[in-house]
Amino acid sequence: MSAPDVENIFADIIERARALDPANARKWFEQLKILRFDGGSIRIGCPDDASVRFLEENCRSVFTRAAQQITGHLVTVEFGVNGVGGSQGPVAIAAPGPALHPDYTFDNFVVGPSNRLAHASCVAVSQSLGTTYNPLFLYGNSGLGKTHLLHAVCHEARRRSPGLVIQLLSCEDFVNRFIRAIEQGNLTSFHSQFRTVGALVIDDIQFLREREQSQEEFFHTFNALYNSGRQIILTADSPPTEIPSLEDRLISRFNWGLVARIDPPSYETRVAIVQKKAHLRDLPIDDEIAEYIARQVQANIRELEGALTTIYALSVTSKEPVTLDLAQRALEGQIKLAVRHISITDIIDVVTRHFDVRLTDLQSKRRSQSITTPRQICMYLARALTKHSLEEIGGHLGGRDHTTVMHACGKIAEEKQSDPKMDALLGELTKQITQAQPV
Ligand code: ADP
Ligand code: MG
Repeated sequence: MSAPDVENIFADIIERARALDPANARKWFEQLKILRFDGGSIRIGCPDDASVRFLEENCRSVFTRAAQQITGHLVTVEFGVNGVGGSQGPVAIAAPGPALHPDYTFDNFVVGPSNRLAHASCVAVSQSLGTTYNPLFLYGNSGLGKTHLLHAVCHEARRRSPGLVIQLLSCEDFVNRFIRAIEQGNLTSFHSQFRTVGALVIDDIQFLREREQSQEEFFHTFNALYNSGRQIILTADSPPTEIPSLEDRLISRFNWGLVARIDPPSYETRVAIVQKKAHLRDLPIDDEIAEYIARQVQANIRELEGALTTIYALSVTSKEPVTLDLAQRALEGQIKLAVRHISITDIIDVVTRHFDVRLTDLQSKRRSQSITTPRQICMYLARALTKHSLEEIGGHLGGRDHTTVMHACGKIAEEKQSDPKMDALLGELTKQITQAQPV
C-alpha cells in the first residue's frame, strides 16, 4: 500500500472514531500521525505524554472499533509519542510526575466573574511556585473547575521547570497511601515522598475530616513544605472554617495564604464554556445552540458538558444535523429533572398571560374554546412538568375530576403530534416556564 493510501485510511479511522464517540473526540486529533501499520496493528503517534494517556484511558476501544470497521481487519491499535517507538526505537516512556488531563489547561479554562480570582491566583502561583500565595486554597461546589485549575497549574509549572517534582493527588489517595505506609511499616519513605517535593497539590482536602491521624500527618507535611518555601495548593467543597471536624491548627494554616472561592458561572460564562468545549471536540456549534444549553444547565459545568455530549450523540445516532429542535429533544429528559420545582401556579401564570385570560375564567364552568384550550394546556403542562397527580391538577383548575384532566392531556398530546403550531406553542410556553425558575 502506498503512503498516501495509508494516510487516507488513517484519516478515515480518525473520522470514524470521532463519529463513534463525539464526547471524547478532540481537536488535537488532527495532530495524530500513523507511525506504523503492519496488517495486525496500527501504531498512532501523539503530540505528547498527556495525549497518549488520554487516548489510552478514554479512546482505545473506540479507535480499535474504528480501525476494524475501516480496514475490515481485526487490527489492534497502540499509542505512542510522535517520533518515539514505531517499528524501530524504544517505546515512549511517560514523563515523571502526575498524570495530567490534557484538556485541563489554562488555555481551555474560560474566565468569568465567578472564577476570576481563583484563576488569577492559579496563574500567579504557577509562574512562581512558593513565593506568591502559599498555601493557595480554592473552594467551591462540585463541577465548578477546581480540579481543572489544579491540573492547569501543574501543566504550566511543568512547562516552566520540567525537572521540578510535583505531587498532585486526591486527598483520598493521600490518606490511603498513609494507611498503607503504616501497615507496611514504611513511614520514613512516605515522609520523604511528600516532605521533599517541589510542590504539593491536593484535591478535595475535605476528605481529611474526622481522620485524626491523617490530619496529624498532613499537619507535619504541611509544616515541612511551608518552612522550606515549597508551594502547597489545596481544594475543598467549602472554606477551611466550614470543613467539619478539621483541627484548628490546620484551619488556621489553610488561611495563611490566599483563599479563593469559585461561584457558579454566569449565563455569559456558561455560553463561552459550551463554545470552548465544542471547539475542543471540534464540533461546529451555533450561538443559538450554545445559548440554549447555557439556559438549560445552570449550576454545574460538568452537566453543561454532559448536555453538549447528549446533543451530539443524538445527532450522530439519528444522522440529523444539530439544530435547536434536535437539542431540545436531546435534553428533554434532563430538562424535566431540572424543573422539578415548578409549581402549577408557575404554569398557570405563563399560560394565562399568553392567552390573556384570567385564572377565574380557567376555574369557571365556561366551555368556550378561548377558555377550554388554555385550561387544557395548563393541565397538559402541569402533567408534563410537575409531579402532581391528576386530582391535584384538577383541583387547581376549578375542582375538575381526574378523568377530565386525563382527557385534556390526551387531547393536547394528540394536537401536539398533528399540529406543528401547537407543538411550537407548547415548546415556547415550556421555555418561558422553565426560564422563570431559579435552579
Ligand atoms: P470540580 O473539581 O470543581 O468538581 P472540575 O474541575 O472537575 O470541577 O470541572 C468539571 C468540568 O467542568 C471539567 O470538565 C472542566 O474542564 C469543566 N470546567 C469547569 N470550569 C470551567 C471553565 N471555567 N472553563 C472551562 N471548563 C470548565
Ligand atoms: Mg474535582
